[in-house]
Amino acid sequence: MKLCYVLSSCLLLSIACSQEPSAFEQFLQQQPTRSFDVLITHGEIIDGTGKEAYPADVLIQADTIVYIGMVDTAQIEVSKRIDATGRTITPGFIDTHAHGNPLETPGFSNFLAMGVTTICLGQDGSSPENMHTWMQQVADTIPGVNVAMFVGHGSLRTQSGIQYNPNPTAEQLGKLGQLLKDQLEAGCFGMSTGLEYVPGVYASEEELESLAKIVGEKGKLISSHIRNEDDDAVEASIRELLRQGTYCPVHVSHLKVVYGKGAERAEEILQLLADARKRGIKVTADVYPYTASYTGISIVFPEWALPPHNYQQVVAQKRQELSTFLRNKVNQRNGPEATLLGTAPYAGKTLAQVAAEKNKSFEAVLIDDIQPGGASGAYFVMDDSLQARFLADSLVMVCSDGSPTSRHPRGHGTFARIIEDFVVKDSLLSLEEAVRKMTSLSAQTIGIEKRGLLKPGYQADILVFDPQKIHATATYENPFQLAEGFSYVLVNGAISLENGEISNERHGLLLKRY
Ligand SMILES: [Zn+2]
Repeated sequence: MKLCYVLSSCLLLSIACSQEPSAFEQFLQQQPTRSFDVLITHGEIIDGTGKEAYPADVLIQADTIVYIGMVDTAQIEVSKRIDATGRTITPGFIDTHAHGNPLETPGFSNFLAMGVTTICLGQDGSSPENMHTWMQQVADTIPGVNVAMFVGHGSLRTQSGIQYNPNPTAEQLGKLGQLLKDQLEAGCFGMSTGLEYVPGVYASEEELESLAKIVGEKGKLISSHIRNEDDDAVEASIRELLRQGTYCPVHVSHLKVVYGKGAERAEEILQLLADARKRGIKVTADVYPYTASYTGISIVFPEWALPPHNYQQVVAQKRQELSTFLRNKVNQRNGPEATLLGTAPYAGKTLAQVAAEKNKSFEAVLIDDIQPGGASGAYFVMDDSLQARFLADSLVMVCSDGSPTSRHPRGHGTFARIIEDFVVKDSLLSLEEAVRKMTSLSAQTIGIEKRGLLKPGYQADILVFDPQKIHATATYENPFQLAEGFSYVLVNGAISLENGEISNERHGLLLKRY
């Protein structure tokens, strides 16, 4: 009897061994359970590396991808099945330069609806005053998408008491550096600068390089709205950033050439970046797929009419000079017809229209009616072929520079538009390459760990969609329309969008980097 039992066990064992266990069976053998949370089947995987799409299933446990391959559904139990037949499965998109206040609009449905699962805030030199408290509040709020923070150089200038001072004392600079160190140690991913805005405009190269050293020591990067994006100043501005690149990785935010034209012009800028890389400087950039910028109207005013200068005094004493400056500046930026105001009471009207209604020159409207702090607007100052060439570069990624509330379609359309126009309609990018520019390249550049790829062990920020159905509906007239076409958006393994409907529950995290 005993012998018979032993023999039959050996027989069974040899039958079992005669067939190699499948990859999935091997995976199961290492699992403590046969029950899993989410299974996405029959889709085409685009993993974020740029590698060609391939068919596979994705298995998720809690907030983590645990298996990618062919899943034998007979062997497991699953709480939620998603059939991705005819659709693509990709990592969630990462927006390297975004705006918005998670404490005011924590849902961030504008980002979710275009497939964005992580946004980088604290841009253009501006970040919250008390970073530690703010981060905790955001974490407690549970935002709809993951939030990665930058510490803003302009805000640090204000916090250290330097603010508009172009010549801070050694003691003040010491305080500035200490504040930077402290906020980087709180978990910020890097420092942002906004050198075209006050108070960042007052920073010397010396100041910026001393801060770059601290950023480098902490193993982080500088993300910069460079000093001047105009055609005749953009190279000098990028060179200034590249000098900081001696000490830490540097990133050009929303790369553009204001009123520059043509793909060849983009080539010149890309060459400047490529040459720097040959010298060992780590430099990257992001771009949004629209030819209008959007910012405060102060962008067209001279520095000498902005704080700390007394604006009323400037108007009283130098009205003619200011008028000439504004006329030249706006005309250089394609004229008053190319300035579309985005804030009350002029929202939706161009500067030319407002001037015609008031029956005065646009310079007079700017000086008397709007004034430097009085409006934000969209400025049609970019060239399609130039910006498209930037986007084709292998180290340029996608950002929206948008928010849930600003009147520019990029805040609701950017990532959908990349797929709809650049991939499907114009074939300027393969889907695999476009996805890489919106996922792994962004995660690696910013230093976001375990996101940006479909890979076992990575966080389950995942999209399911048919690229042919993606549609960016936001326009300059109606900038707040949600993008369409994503079937599923998962944030940290939880379903945040299903068949176009955004969930009422939020699943984002406040991300930290140490
Ligand atoms: Zn900016």
